[in-house]
Amino acid sequence: TADPSRNLSIENATKVFGSFKAVDDLSLTVQRGEFLTLLGPSGSGKTTLLMMIAGFVQPDRGNIFLDSRPIAHLPPEARNFGMVFQGYALFPHLTVFENVAFPLKVRKKPRAEIEEKVKAALDLVQLTTQMDRLPRQLSGGQQQRVALARAMVFTPHLLLLDEPLSALDKKLRAELQEELKRLHRKVGLTFIYVTHDQDEALSMSDRIAVMRDGRLIQHGSPTEVYEQPRTTFVADFLGKSN
Ligand code: ADP
Repeated sequence: TADPSRNLSIENATKVFGSFKAVDDLSLTVQRGEFLTLLGPSGSGKTTLLMMIAGFVQPDRGNIFLDSRPIAHLPPEARNFGMVFQGYALFPHLTVFENVAFPLKVRKKPRAEIEEKVKAALDLVQLTTQMDRLPRQLSGGQQQRVALARAMVFTPHLLLLDEPLSALDKKLRAELQEELKRLHRKVGLTFIYVTHDQDEALSMSDRIAVMRDGRLIQHGSPTEVYEQPRTTFVADFLGKSN
């Protein structure tokens, strides 16, 4: 149920490192509530594009709009986007509760609101019983779920996920894939998910954007992209098993 008046729009974005175009004149619109996956081989520019959306990388050309407002000039903290990366980046000396409370404390929210929101976020990822533990007392999968709760606790406009499951073993990955799909359905938040894993992209996404050499070469539903690959590159990439 995407509302087209609320979306993220990338228009002709280019990022050059030296003489190398990591992102090359790329345009893409992400609908509100959509689970969009950026899929492509290593070095295709997925992370650079995500970092541009997050605000850590400035585009050399082009612009980014959120709900029709240009945001390319805004620093990351002004964009209100949640982020989850491969490393969990939890504070090792803080409890699960304190880790998830962190973004709310930074925003100087009142104590009662923090308590309520942290508990709701931990409930979403089924970790309320672990809230007094330290990260090292949790499994890798549980730590990544804490990171997810922390990224969603402040009601971000969208969630940016860069290979969040790649450090996990196969079984945990499958579990977390299910968990992410369930969370996405439940909270209705826009997810922009980076992976080089075609099976993960096909099983999780509403829409896949395939990247190669900094360009968007095809986008569509998993079925469309899988069944009607537009180039042999896309066909080979999606057909290849891990
Ligand atoms: P992907 O996420 O698809 O693996 P990246 O966006 O990480 O691709 O990288 C795309 C290309 O841009 C790679 O060749 C990488 O070496 C290069 N690149 C990324 N960041 C930088 C940087 N800060 N300086 C120089 N080159 C970079």
